[in-house]
Amino acid sequence: MKISKRIGLGIVCILVLALAAWVVFLSVRGQENEAASSITNGEASTNLADQNSQIAQDPRTAALKAEKYFLERNLVRYQSYYDLHPDFTPTVVVRDVNANLDKTKYVDVKPADLSYGVLSLINKYNDLGEYQPEDLVDLGANYGSGHNMLRREAAEAFIKMAEAARADGLILRNISGYRSYAVQENLYASYSLRDGAALADTYSSRAGYSEHQAGLATDINSVDTDFQYTKEFGWLQEYAADYGFILRYPEGLEEITGFMYEPWHYRYVGVEPARQIVREGITFDEYYAYYVLGEKSEW
Ligand SMILES: [Zn+2]
Repeated sequence: MKISKRIGLGIVCILVLALAAWVVFLSVRGQENEAASSITNGEASTNLADQNSQIAQDPRTAALKAEKYFLERNLVRYQSYYDLHPDFTPTVVVRDVNANLDKTKYVDVKPADLSYGVLSLINKYNDLGEYQPEDLVDLGANYGSGHNMLRREAAEAFIKMAEAARADGLILRNISGYRSYAVQENLYASYSLRDGAALADTYSSRAGYSEHQAGLATDINSVDTDFQYTKEFGWLQEYAADYGFILRYPEGLEEITGFMYEPWHYRYVGVEPARQIVREGITFDEYYAYYVLGEKSEW
C-alpha cells in the first residue's frame, strides 16, 4: 500500500509540475506575441510617417503644389502617376490625374452625380445607368430633327443660339440631342459590330455613359469632321459659350476626354462655366475636377 501511495503522490506531483510548466510556457509565449505585434505596429507607423515625409520632401511635390489645378486630395495619386511617367511635366501629371487618367475607363466607374445639374459629369468613369431626364423638350422642326429633344434649359439656350446664328445668316440645327439608354445601346452595338469595340469606343459611348442620355448634348449640323471648315463651326467657336455651350471633345485632347475630335458635339453647361472653360482652355473633365468637385473626395 505504501509503495502505491508513493507512486500516486509522485504522479500527482508530476501532473502539478507539468501544469505549472504549461502555464509558464503560455504566459511567455503571450508576452512574446505582444512584443512582436508592438514591434510590427511600430514599424507600420514608422513606415507611414516615412512615406509621408518622403512625399513632403520629394522635390516633385513642391512642383505639383505650384500647379494651378493642384488638388490636395489627389496628391498620392499624382505621386504614383509621376512614378509611372517620370518624363511627364507636373502640369501634365496634375491634368491627367484630375481627369482620372490613372484610372481605367469603363472599369473604375461610379454613378454620375446628377446633383450638380447641368454641371454633372458624364464620361467613361461616371455612369448614368438607365437614367432619363424629366424635363425633356422637343426643339421642333425649325431647330432640328431626329433625336430632337434636350433638357428644358439646354433646349431654350439652343434655340436662342440658333436664332442669333440665323440673324448672322447661318443655320444651326440639332441632328442628335437626347438619346435614351436603349437607343445608345443599339448605336454602340452596331458601331462595334462594324468597327470593333476598340475603334467604336473612340467615337461612341457605351450605354449609360453618353452625355446625350443626360439630355445636355447636341450634335450640330453634321457628324463629319469637315464640319470644322464651315462658317457655322467658326461662329460656334466664337459665340457658343455665350449661350452656355462648349465644344466637348476638342482636337488634341482625345486622351483627356476619351473621345476623338468631334467638331459637331456641344455640351450645355451654362453661360459662366462655358466662358470660363473657353477662357482657361481646359476640358469639361478638368473643369469638373477643379471647380465643381474641388477638394470633395471623388472615389
Ligand atoms: Zn454627340
